[in-house]
Amino acid sequence: MRKILSAVCICFVFSQAKAQLTPFELSKDKNYTATYSEVIAYYQKLSRLHPQMKLFNYGTTDVGKPLTLVVLSRDGVFDPKLIKKQNKRVLLINNGIHPGEPEGIDASMMLCRDLLRKKALPKNVVICIIAIYNIDGCLNRGQSRINQNGPRAYGFRGNYRNLDLNRDFIKADSKNALAFEQILNTWNPEVFLDNHTSDGADYQYVMTLIETQKDKQNPILADYTSKTLSPELYKRMKISGYEMIPYVESEDKSPDNGIVSFLETPRFATGYTSQHNIISYITETHMLKPFDKRVYATYDFMQNLIDIYERDAKLIGYLKHKADEQVKQQQTFALNWDLDMDHYDSLTFKGYTAGYKTSEVSGLPRLYYDRTKPYTKTIKYFDNYKAAAIIDKPLAYIIPQAWGKVIELYKLNNVAMRRLAHDTTLNLQMYYIADYKTPQRPYEGHYLHSNVKLNPVETNVKFYAGDYVVYTNQSLNRYIVETLEPQGVDSFFAWNFFDSVLGEKEYFSDYVFEDVAADLLKKDPDLKKKLDDEKLKDPKLATSAGMQLNFVYRNSPYFEKTYLRYPIGRILTPTNLDLK
Ligand SMILES: [Zn+2]
Repeated sequence: MRKILSAVCICFVFSQAKAQLTPFELSKDKNYTATYSEVIAYYQKLSRLHPQMKLFNYGTTDVGKPLTLVVLSRDGVFDPKLIKKQNKRVLLINNGIHPGEPEGIDASMMLCRDLLRKKALPKNVVICIIAIYNIDGCLNRGQSRINQNGPRAYGFRGNYRNLDLNRDFIKADSKNALAFEQILNTWNPEVFLDNHTSDGADYQYVMTLIETQKDKQNPILADYTSKTLSPELYKRMKISGYEMIPYVESEDKSPDNGIVSFLETPRFATGYTSQHNIISYITETHMLKPFDKRVYATYDFMQNLIDIYERDAKLIGYLKHKADEQVKQQQTFALNWDLDMDHYDSLTFKGYTAGYKTSEVSGLPRLYYDRTKPYTKTIKYFDNYKAAAIIDKPLAYIIPQAWGKVIELYKLNNVAMRRLAHDTTLNLQMYYIADYKTPQRPYEGHYLHSNVKLNPVETNVKFYAGDYVVYTNQSLNRYIVETLEPQGVDSFFAWNFFDSVLGEKEYFSDYVFEDVAADLLKKDPDLKKKLDDEKLKDPKLATSAGMQLNFVYRNSPYFEKTYLRYPIGRILTPTNLDLK
């Protein structure tokens, strides 16, 4: 009888374990990634079996389905505020932002199950996993990554609005981004991981890694990640059998010539999370390696990251706090970064010999990598960036309530804001947009401005009751400054939030303005002199009646002050404001 019972028992355990295999594991050739409905059904089933796992739905995505967050908590505490009170850390993992790069989706399902079944959840770290971020793209299943070695079918990069969601974190055009920002600012992770697949050159590694660029990263966090966390991840991945190399950015040149450290500006997930002083990584498995190896490498990376995080939980919490405090005090901020080609480090690189042969398509030379000729050599690693635009923060910014999207995003990101109690005229610094470049064609649904030149002026501007005041004494200072300073590579200005100020609203009729202009010149000798001086400098002006009228108009009190005036005010000196 006893024997029969135990056989039943074993059988039950076995069938339960089998039932918990993921679609990837159940596929014979391990060249299969789970569909959206399979992923959600799998997690729902798992959460019914394990009280230490809970699913949350956040907002919606552009395709109308909610963003599912899987939370693993050893104590079964799922209140983010209580978790912080208990002095626990949070890890946020994002999967499927590019659904054609689905390793993280399948690896996370396996990892969740194993951590639960082996009772191996970390004590000090609550794990939050976005099951699939780009649900829209995931539903659009096919084979859109022509060069990639499996899986058989997978989702499409663009979401329902055809946006690349990994460029959407500042502009937040997609509902996916808004839901992500809600998750981030609800759970407040100290460490973030975004799982991807790379393309580009061929080499021996299955796994490559992008860490927040060290010069751009908060120095307190950079010191820890560059000296401790990253080296240890590399060491542990080598022991796991998936030796890593930094992400190989060298499209048509062989990596022999050196590789460049990736600069994730704020538009990217990890660029955005870095603005929140979150330690951030991107795994990039290599697309030419078999899918199963890529999934297992991603699994091992996540497990290694969790293990180190669990060990260093206290330290990471302390460093995050220290970084937050430092950013509150920080006076100057870099808005752009240029690669330093003069200074580089070196790396041991295991590549394949690159060569050129005649293309059967074009008859012209084509690049190829010869896998029968592996090599190990030292290559250059360009991993230094120089700050290209540095700005002093103001004491506070004033954001007129008219700019609703900015306010919406700031609220979502928990930026502390006060509101003017009354209509108030303030003497403060305003920027006039002196110049900017805009491309002919849109990029991610926008005509992204760059090379912005500013003309700052001290002036009186009337603001209205309810306009927002943002003091720059916040741990989110980087997010605030990098989004509000127009020269920032991913500023709100760059992403067209303020384009209406770039157009003139009024103009004059030449024949009517003639008499007014003549009168103005008579009454204002300085203006007359200014015009005469300009005429001497500019022969075109000297012979054009229209241009001269325009010159007078633009230098007259009738010319609209708001034209090209960036609407966010900068308070530079302590100012008493009546706030509510
Ligand atoms: Zn990607």
